[in-house]
Amino acid sequence: MSDPLYDVVIIGSGPAGLSAAIYATRAELNVLVVEKEVMSGGQILNTYEVDNYPGLPGISGYDLGAKFKEHCDKLGVVSMEDEVTKLESKEQNKLVYLASGKTISTKTIIIATGARNRMLGVPGEEELSGMGVSYCATCDGAFFKNKVVAVIGGGDVAVEDAIFLARICKKVYVIHRREEFRAAKTLSTCLSNLDNVEVLWNQKVTSIEGEDMVRAILLQDTKTKEESQIPVDGVFIAVGTLPNSAIVSGIVELDPSGYIVADETCKTSVRGIFAAGDVRTKQLRQVVTAAADGANAISSIEDYIIQNK
Ligand code: NAP
Repeated sequence: MSDPLYDVVIIGSGPAGLSAAIYATRAELNVLVVEKEVMSGGQILNTYEVDNYPGLPGISGYDLGAKFKEHCDKLGVVSMEDEVTKLESKEQNKLVYLASGKTISTKTIIIATGARNRMLGVPGEEELSGMGVSYCATCDGAFFKNKVVAVIGGGDVAVEDAIFLARICKKVYVIHRREEFRAAKTLSTCLSNLDNVEVLWNQKVTSIEGEDMVRAILLQDTKTKEESQIPVDGVFIAVGTLPNSAIVSGIVELDPSGYIVADETCKTSVRGIFAAGDVRTKQLRQVVTAAADGANAISSIEDYIIQNK
């Protein structure tokens, strides 16, 4: 028996990928989801609470991811645990090469590979990663019970992490390079009501100090250039994300930051390749917008398949 020709191969199983899988299955497309992690869900798995997904207020990111997965299982979505190493766009069909050595043929591809943590890029960060330096408060917060930690960043993730850590830690510093948060107002207000949180504005981290464990961070005031040191037991870095677009680099058009150029139709610069969720150029990266992309990508793919019969 020859290998199947899929209608759509979805790469990634965060909210965008799984939403696309649900829409594809309901549209009776022959779909395969390829995911490199055992547990699918994407970045939300590391999110303590998602409070703005309609209908499910206050749900944990992990539970929301599990609900998406359950929904897919119920519909019989087929997924494969493997890593995509290369893509090739042929005249009609596309080839997806996997680390296991398999090659999959498909009419269309959805890149739903999301984004990853951006590093701060200061001395000590890499050396002390896992030894007090963390990128995931919900994963590692419990190790810092009654200790003093610093959260670096001023976006939603940094403020959410600080709120979460304040419940566990003795003291939480939030270090932000400007004097205004980028995070949603509701989060900033919630943070300002916490007694054991101190926000240090206009501060740049210049180094993370410690031998086997984090001991302190060195700061520089962005305005006065004054330097200071704060003793801390842990550092949670939340300075944004970078797109996981390496597999399509040189194939589809990327913007200067590496996001796949695609609008709401999710069409990329290459016919038959679509991009959904955080990996594409967009104004707002949320679970709800990623899930919406999954639906839009499948709508575009249905049109594409009809036009290319
Ligand atoms: P973000 O919104 O891009 O914020 C990154 C923060 O890190 C900014 O405050 C930025 O400072 C700071 N930063 C960047 N590079 C830095 C550096 N080298 N040194 C010091 N600070 C640096 O990223 P995010 O908080 O990770 O959020 C990512 C996306 O997910 C956002 O679109 C966010 O809205 C979304 N999100 C949504 C939810 C939700 O729906 N509940 C929850 C979490 C996140 P500046 O402000 O000065 O640029």
